[in-house]
Amino acid sequence: MAKVAIVTGGTRGIGEAISLALKDAGVTVAANYAGNEEKAKAFTEKTGIASYKWDVGDYDACQEGVKQVQADLGHVDILVNNAGITRDGTILKMTYEMWDDVMRINLGGCFNMSKAVFPGMRERKWGRIVNIGSINGQAGQYGQVNYAAAKSGIHGFTKALAQEGARAGVTVNALAPGYIDTDMVAAVPADVLEKIVAKIPVGRLGQAHEIARGVAFLCSDDAGFITGTTLSLNGGQHMY
Ligand code: NDP
Repeated sequence: MAKVAIVTGGTRGIGEAISLALKDAGVTVAANYAGNEEKAKAFTEKTGIASYKWDVGDYDACQEGVKQVQADLGHVDILVNNAGITRDGTILKMTYEMWDDVMRINLGGCFNMSKAVFPGMRERKWGRIVNIGSINGQAGQYGQVNYAAAKSGIHGFTKALAQEGARAGVTVNALAPGYIDTDMVAAVPADVLEKIVAKIPVGRLGQAHEIARGVAFLCSDDAGFITGTTLSLNGGQHMY
């Protein structure tokens, strides 16, 4: 029987590419989203992948959302914690709400979703959880104390949960993208982006499908010996 995956934030950007890569690998995918109905509807019509709306920053909504996916598609074998937001500003300008939104969604979402699927994965002795981190969680970034802290937290979360799942066939890994050509990066001012691209050794932004292939590999049977690690896909930027 086909495996079932939930991809949070799976209807656009990197998440859309992940949903498609998993579908190509024969997985039945449920793509979660936050509220962009137009995009979710177009995505489902185009791909045939079911989309489900809930806020990953809301614990109860995650438990209900997972129950609904399980009722529709069967037990969840694969979770990709991809949903994420930015609320940038230096600490002088960052409000508590900007801090809290990013921590609640980017890091809290990983806990909320993993809590809902991890027990079943352990019981069935097979599971894959991939958490999308960021090069900015590894290196820090001016104007992103909230985002860098949340993404850095994801890397610690990954290593801790990996230890809890290892003996039960549940692998937990992170994938840290560099700068990828999506709406999130389109929001970066052009002059700032130019400086960022100049620092990427391959000389360009990454494409969403280049991240998605890495995720699909980490979710495959072939990746059963890989756990608690971070795959850094950033055009060589980690060397600087
Ligand atoms: P986008 O802004 O293009 O898409 C974000 C997706 O997340 C959307 O599907 C959105 O849903 C969903 N989402 C946002 N908030 C929530 C929420 N509270 N609950 C459920 N879903 C939510 O982002 P990217 O594709 O660029 O980024 C995807 C991931 O990759 C993020 O975690 C990001 O931090 C990370 N990343 C991105 C990089 C980049 O360069 N783009 C670099 C490094 C990491 P909706 O459509 O309804 O708004």
